[in-house]
Amino acid sequence: MNIAKNTVVSIRYELRNSDGEVLENSEDAVSYLHGGYDGIFPTVEEALQGKAVGEVCEITLEPDHAFGEYDADLVRIEPRNQFPDDKLEVGMQFEGASDGEDEWILYTVTDVTDDKVVVDGNHPLAGQRLLFKCEVTEVRPATEDEIAHEHAHGEHGHQH
Ligand SMILES: [Zn+2]
Repeated sequence: MNIAKNTVVSIRYELRNSDGEVLENSEDAVSYLHGGYDGIFPTVEEALQGKAVGEVCEITLEPDHAFGEYDADLVRIEPRNQFPDDKLEVGMQFEGASDGEDEWILYTVTDVTDDKVVVDGNHPLAGQRLLFKCEVTEVRPATEDEIAHEHAHGEHGHQH
């Protein structure tokens, strides 16, 4: 069976940055519903279209097609007293409203001083060109439920 709209695709993948450093490595396969449901990066979906089990793909993802360009406006300096007293460390993440937009984004604490906290709303991989390598491990037709929910169910998919 070949990958087409409304098939559930399982892949093993590896994500590297442009220095060749491995950022993510799927130990188990991950599954997604193929066909424009935003289950995976669209560029990856395009490359996988028509492939079958055992086939591999290797794609360079420009920042725009991965985690976005780095946006300096998403770096904010907040008063220290707006954060809990204890356990505030660089690298901690929390959700917050983005400035002037009705949308919640994930902020990462990048610096803590006595009276200020610097938070960055960019994805940690924003602005990076990434290399995505994957191997197709399973292709099967999606169930009606999966198509209605717009995601894959089962062992490597969405758990309800
Ligand atoms: Zn579901």
